[in-house]
Amino acid sequence: MSEPQGINPNIPHSARVYDYWLGGKDNFEADRRVAEATMAAVPGVRESARNNRAFLGRAVRHLAQLGIRQFLDLGTGIPTQGNVHEVAQAEAPESRIVYVDNDPIVMAHARALLTGTREGKTAYIEADVRDPRSVLDHPEVRETLDFTQPIALMMVAILMHIPDQDDPAGIVKAFADALPAGSYLVLSHLTLDLVPKQIADDYLAATRSQAMHRTPRTGAQIARYFDGFDVIEPGLVGVSQWRETPLFPDTATWMYGGAGRKR
Ligand code: SAH
Repeated sequence: MSEPQGINPNIPHSARVYDYWLGGKDNFEADRRVAEATMAAVPGVRESARNNRAFLGRAVRHLAQLGIRQFLDLGTGIPTQGNVHEVAQAEAPESRIVYVDNDPIVMAHARALLTGTREGKTAYIEADVRDPRSVLDHPEVRETLDFTQPIALMMVAILMHIPDQDDPAGIVKAFADALPAGSYLVLSHLTLDLVPKQIADDYLAATRSQAMHRTPRTGAQIARYFDGFDVIEPGLVGVSQWRETPLFPDTATWMYGGAGRKR
């Protein structure tokens, strides 16, 4: 593929590694190398990516069925099947969605994210979630979402890209504080809790040398992001177990997923 502005094809990037696992074409050699090396070292990583994507879709549909009409999708990823607005607007055409990502490659494909219904609205902004105000005060965000009405804050497979020194809990809180009661937080997160110890060790050894940083966290650490939210059924579980029969039932699960309602 050609190189949109601001993209360095030699540095592997999470959005493109994930795209490769999902079967997309928007990735470079460096991304494929990391994706393949991780797959070779540990089983079930690709399936886990697909299970994560399926979790995202089920969570959006479920919240839409509960009456949620606004979505703030942090860490959108490269558009693929079942983007948030497609799932939400299939349930309720008037749904309004703001997409946020900091990888220019996502921006290069943003047109695919902006094809919503006439009744609803979709917007895309390039921003870094480590600076929540740059998102929350953005004019497009304020025009698209009504912060007096419930909003689903989507943080699906993004917090594992935020190391502890960038205060992921503080970031979640800054966004959560901007939402009215009755809003939702949906998140999924890389974990080593659900795989055998040997496989977890293999994963750590394989990824230590990679340029792309990811922080796996424990269920207890991840549960703390739901401070101020009541986690809904079935709780924080492997993404493939969340309100569904697993897509790939026999593979190791690398991701926790859950949703909570703001008190
Ligand atoms: N939420 C989608 C995509 C997950 S891939 C899904 O679950 O299917 C993770 C995405 O988070 C990537 O597109 C990456 O570019 C984005 N991301 C990582 N760190 C970010 C940051 N600090 N600010 C904004 N986006 C970020």
